[in-house]
Amino acid sequence: MADIIKLLPDHVANQIAAGEVVQRPASVVKELLENAIDAGATSIKLIIKDGGKTLIQVVDDGKGMSETDARLSFERHATSKISSAQDLFNLHTKGFRGEALASIAAIAHVDMQTRLEGSEVGTHIKIEGSKIVSQEVVAMPKGTSISVKNLFFNIPARRNFLKSNQVELRHITDEFHRVALVHPNIAFHFYNNGSEIFSLPKTKHRQRIAHIFGSRMEDRLVPVTEETEVVKISGFICKPEFSKKSRGEQFFFANDRYIKSPYLHHAVVAAFEGLIKTDMHPGYFLYLEVDPSSIDINIHPTKTEVKFDDENTLYAILRSTIKHSLGQFNVAPVLDFDHDPNLDTPYAYKEKDVVLPKVTVDASFNPFKETGTVSRVSRSFQKPSTKGWEGLYEGLQSDAEGDTFSSVVIESEGEEQGTLYSEDELAEHMATTFQLRRKFVVSTVKSGMLVIHQNRAHERILFEKFLGEITVKEGVSQQLLFPLELTFNKQDLGILNEIQESLSNIGFAFESLEHETVKVTGMPLAVPESGIGTVLDRLISDYKEGFSDGSLSQAEVLAKALSKNLAVKTGDVLDQESQLALVNNLFACKEPTLSPFQKLTYTIISEGDIDKKFS
Ligand code: ADP
Ligand code: MG
Repeated sequence: MADIIKLLPDHVANQIAAGEVVQRPASVVKELLENAIDAGATSIKLIIKDGGKTLIQVVDDGKGMSETDARLSFERHATSKISSAQDLFNLHTKGFRGEALASIAAIAHVDMQTRLEGSEVGTHIKIEGSKIVSQEVVAMPKGTSISVKNLFFNIPARRNFLKSNQVELRHITDEFHRVALVHPNIAFHFYNNGSEIFSLPKTKHRQRIAHIFGSRMEDRLVPVTEETEVVKISGFICKPEFSKKSRGEQFFFANDRYIKSPYLHHAVVAAFEGLIKTDMHPGYFLYLEVDPSSIDINIHPTKTEVKFDDENTLYAILRSTIKHSLGQFNVAPVLDFDHDPNLDTPYAYKEKDVVLPKVTVDASFNPFKETGTVSRVSRSFQKPSTKGWEGLYEGLQSDAEGDTFSSVVIESEGEEQGTLYSEDELAEHMATTFQLRRKFVVSTVKSGMLVIHQNRAHERILFEKFLGEITVKEGVSQQLLFPLELTFNKQDLGILNEIQESLSNIGFAFESLEHETVKVTGMPLAVPESGIGTVLDRLISDYKEGFSDGSLSQAEVLAKALSKNLAVKTGDVLDQESQLALVNNLFACKEPTLSPFQKLTYTIISEGDIDKKFS
């Protein structure tokens, strides 16, 4: 029989290899940035168009390449970084496999210009799908510029698989952050579709973090340092009170590479134990330095998981170091769990006299109430509400006047159909709802006992309300007498812009100012003024998470995030009226049975079931 094994042509082999190295535009960004850093650049520009699908360009002022090296760099396993297997155990560069450029060139149009410091002219090479299409000399500054255009032009299936430009940009931005955070001594500029979105001057770690994540980050950071034989640890943790509901800023770097390590993450969380609630996530930027031979570097280029030789020791050291920092900087005794400093009166307001807002509130108005008799027109407001939503955040205290809740929940605008009780029955039921363990609202219905999960039910009610408002644009806005100025980092500002229209539909009003600052001039009635920063922060981070799965509409993601953040929680005390309103509004919903997160909102325990217990 004839021999049947053939060697794959290089360009095919490269395409296959490319599939592993280049998963999306962000992978190209990572490889190009790393090459620029390995080349000793002091200033790096990243230029992106259309989420990297049209263009990814990295310009550096590093050492450049000779004409021969420029051509060779696109060959597979062409690397200047190792020459023997032994070198693998003492790596100080990011690249070493010599795979990236070959892989990228196999699946895109690549245009490279590079000049060595000593040379008079540089080399300009164009490659399309692994084929060199032109090579010329070029006058240029020292360094290298690589443009990658039309990614996956020859693999339509992969190209179609890419997400929206916004989502791809977000992945690129994440990659950019990871690289920029380890190299504060390198200046970075990042342009997206022609506008500069990050301008990071050469600086120190702490300032780099603030330049990326917003200046308010600076006073939230607590330094961490430790040096042992096994590891040198440096970096910062965020003070416990600035922990977030979503994962937020959590970064580990080992020997200047971003890594993921669920195990070490656990060590950090363990150090925060008792200082933050279990559903909150601490922020951290931790840089570990270990002997390169004690860490498994033979990792796949796109993977960020690493293997340390002595993980248990690292775990113990990390945990105690962080505990120590928390203690030393006096941040440990923040034991008031329910107190969120973000919700304190903003500094500037503390000194001000109370001024009657233009919009006043009818103290007797109970928004939960879904009856036609207390006319909704009487939302003519009379008295400034000084409490209200804040209470929700701090854990409601039972309030005799019963209006703690009044400004809390906006009723579902649904018609009365669907209410469980008639007008007459209302009075009767007033006395027959009660709260069980600050978690359930219990009432009776014809067939037995109704048990409602207060948090989930309220999420459902708010979800439908906000979804309605976003789509029909009828949210009620409350003008702020003193507009609030809030700062956001660039990425969050971008998201805010993306969702601005929906937010204004539900009653938010903003103007953007310079320098990461946004002026909030109005907000939905349902949001407490002092909590607005927190609500927006959470909204943005929930939106980031919710949207990257791509299956939900923007309106749904936002309505979900808002309902999650604004719903009453387990532990909140509900007065009688609010309990009843919760029941009524839930059953006025289109889909009362499930929360927006697909959890059961209520159950009915039938008389039969109860009878059985007594049999
Ligand atoms: P690796 O980084 O693993 O060595 P790459 O395919 O990323 O492999 O790059 C191949 C080689 O091309 C590098 O080893 C380096 O010598 C050279 N090179 C790539 N990018 C640059 C750059 N921006 N400046 C100077 N040399 C570069
Ligand atoms: Mg490389």
